[in-house]
Amino acid sequence: MEAKRMNHFKHLLLQHKENHEDIVDDMETLSLGGNDNHGSSELSSYDNHPAEIASELFDVEHQIGLKRLEEHEIKEIDQALEKIQNGTYGICESCGKDIDLNRLELLPQARLCIGCAKESDVFMAEIRGDKKKYRPSEEQVIQSSDINDSLRGEQFNDLMEYGSSDTHQDRGGKIVQ
Ligand SMILES: [Zn+2]
Repeated sequence: MEAKRMNHFKHLLLQHKENHEDIVDDMETLSLGGNDNHGSSELSSYDNHPAEIASELFDVEHQIGLKRLEEHEIKEIDQALEKIQNGTYGICESCGKDIDLNRLELLPQARLCIGCAKESDVFMAEIRGDKKKYRPSEEQVIQSSDINDSLRGEQFNDLMEYGSSDTHQDRGGKIVQ
């Protein structure tokens, strides 16, 4: 890769790194709380309602997952910056061919060319990394709300069977009154 192009990606990587570091900093500020209203002081104002604690814990867990993901990205970027230093940047770690420049524009820390990335399960697992860990809890939330909806539907059907305020009996009663 030409030095000029290499320099472009170096700046791109440094920019990405800065963005990720800003996010991590923000997360640390939020989770440390300090004199902020966030955190345990907020919990006590809800009289320790279990649902509130659960959602608070979910937020914290979610935040830790996102933070790990950010830190993982920063590590990947550092490794790409090292490659720029030793002149191996933009070369696929698997097949040794040049990684497509469009791919590097989108993902400057890419280790593999698009062909190898698609073939490599290890790579896919790696890029999903921490994201994958947090997918189940999101799915659980979605699933439980689905269950609630279908339960609500069943309860409604039961009510209809036993008669609702729209049945003839009720209407008749109202007219008499
Ligand atoms: Zn390759």
